[in-house]
Amino acid sequence: MMDSLNTSYERRPPRFHDVSHEDWQSWHWQHQNRLRRPGDFEGVLKLSQQERSAFEDISDRFRVAVTPHYAALMDPDDTHCPVRRQALPHPDELLDHSFELEDPLAEEEFMPVTGLTHRYPDRALLYTSHHCPVYCRHCTRKRKVSNPTTAASRDQLQAGLDYIKATPAVRDVIISGGDPLTLSDDRLGFILSRLREIPHVEVIRLGTRNPVTLPQRITEDLAQILKKHSPIYVHTHFNHPAEFCSEAAVALERLLAAGCVLGNQMVLLRGVNDDQEVIMTLNRRLLLHGCRPYYILQCDMARGITHFRTPLRKGLEIMDHLRGRIGGMGVPDFVVDLPGGGGKIELLPDYIVGKEPSEHGQVIRFRNFQGNEYAFVDVDPAN
Ligand SMILES: *Cc1c(COP(=O)(O)O)cnc(C)c1O
Ligand code: SF4
Repeated sequence: MMDSLNTSYERRPPRFHDVSHEDWQSWHWQHQNRLRRPGDFEGVLKLSQQERSAFEDISDRFRVAVTPHYAALMDPDDTHCPVRRQALPHPDELLDHSFELEDPLAEEEFMPVTGLTHRYPDRALLYTSHHCPVYCRHCTRKRKVSNPTTAASRDQLQAGLDYIKATPAVRDVIISGGDPLTLSDDRLGFILSRLREIPHVEVIRLGTRNPVTLPQRITEDLAQILKKHSPIYVHTHFNHPAEFCSEAAVALERLLAAGCVLGNQMVLLRGVNDDQEVIMTLNRRLLLHGCRPYYILQCDMARGITHFRTPLRKGLEIMDHLRGRIGGMGVPDFVVDLPGGGGKIELLPDYIVGKEPSEHGQVIRFRNFQGNEYAFVDVDPAN
């Protein structure tokens, strides 16, 4: 594919200069060498005073972990670097706002069995692990993710699978977490086999940020497992073009070759990607690598992420910019996941500028992406 990307290995910080290429490309090595404490960032980047103090105050609330791979994508000299902002703690995470919610999407309330959320008639979300290679500061599941006491046990997983088997309305299962690719290949293969045995489960999705934070995890072995259960819908989470590199591209290629259908669910984040040109570049890049932008998610009402929130107007502006300027495949839905378990709704810019009655129904005046106006006769036999 025509995308001249560096490897993260080439960009690795001085701390990792002696690491072999083979180690770097091993996800076990990446996992074992994650940066977790302020001292680990020596030879990687200079922590700002804010980041340093945030480390002390925050890490017991929501853990810090950064793979060497993801750290290599950071700008060591710029605290506003979009990659850095997503992974390094910030004092604003401690600000409490009265409207913030512990479980913003009421995921626990909609759990018929522990570890499975059944909100929509045909879809169920299965929590398989509460670990992730990198703990995103904007995570909506902050309260659970990274907390080892809440990890899904074998019994819990079995109860989730039993529930799906006993509930024929569930056609679409989302394997989620945390990040399900923190499971072993065997465990993941087991879950996929069990799900494929259930006749009414038509769609299996895997929600994972590993292509971004730990692309080395997408091994040939893993690809073979996914291929066996093809098609698996893999929904990943790129938020910024700076997260692309050769390793990520290889991971996406492998998933495609394994028959996976790729989608991207990004979160709109203030100071990270709340810019129409950034999103345009990101979506072009995703399409170039066979991954369709699926959702732009409004940052929700979870505790400790309000500093990342943008006004709804921002998302609408971005949608308005995309439509018409990039092919429809590059225009995702802008969705808000409603608090209290209302589910996702889509927000769209308003293209209607006027309506007049006519003898056939109505004349609707629309504007297009360039702001030009067009009259459309909406024929309505009921008139
Ligand atoms: C987002 C979500 C889904 C999937 O929604 P889609 O709009 O189909 O992608 C399913 N269940 C829960 C609980 C969700 O939050
Ligand atoms: S990878 Fe997903 S679940 Fe894990 S911390 Fe990031 S947003 Fe949360």
